[in-house]
Amino acid sequence: MSDLICDQLETINARIASACERVGRSRDGVQLIAVSKRHPSEKIREAFDYGQTIFGESRLQEAQEKIPVLPATIQWHLIGRLQKNKIRKVLPLFDTIHSVDSLELAEAINRIAGEEGLIPKVYLQTNLANETTKTGFSREELISAYGQLLDFDRLQIMGLMAIPPSRDDEALIRLDFAAVRELRDELVKLTGTPLDGLSMGMSDDFEIAIEEGSTMVRVGSAIFGARA
Ligand SMILES: *Cc1c(COP(=O)(O)O)cnc(C)c1O
Repeated sequence: MSDLICDQLETINARIASACERVGRSRDGVQLIAVSKRHPSEKIREAFDYGQTIFGESRLQEAQEKIPVLPATIQWHLIGRLQKNKIRKVLPLFDTIHSVDSLELAEAINRIAGEEGLIPKVYLQTNLANETTKTGFSREELISAYGQLLDFDRLQIMGLMAIPPSRDDEALIRLDFAAVRELRDELVKLTGTPLDGLSMGMSDDFEIAIEEGSTMVRVGSAIFGARA
């Protein structure tokens, strides 16, 4: 085993702390999800032994193989697309679902969570650039569906999630993150219901995301290296 993963985690945590400091935010306001998809359980254990407790996976089948062989105190977050026929299996395995990308999916999760006696934490996935390759709520869709979403009594809606377009221009990346934050603020204003979470920022842009208000960064390759 190498110490590489620990070194990388230490570096990422330091970079998170610096980003918080630059904009006067508390370090406690940002959580790190170590995205372990397509990396073996041994690497996850290494990161866990170092102190990392939150991990992100994107596929049910892969998670079903890894979760049982890893410490039960790990908190698993689903970050990949969720198909309706997998909800019942996903719910008991994952603490949080970041990829609630439609009203229909939210409705199905709410119904099944009720049947299973669970109250999952969820993020509403946005697609503010209306990219056809990605799913998620457009700004208009989310504003119109939000009242119904809040009425689902088996969902703990934690915040908004975003995977903005990949861009080279840092100023544009910043605008994309700011747009998610502004939409969150707008929803709070419209409903008077608090909504704190912003799941945004990955290996290449997590510092910008934090400067723009992210509360959960999802970092994979900068911790574990390139995926298989
Ligand atoms: C894979 C993935 C990540 C991590 O991406 P890196 O660039 O490796 O940090 C974050 N979020 C989602 C939704 C992903 O699918």
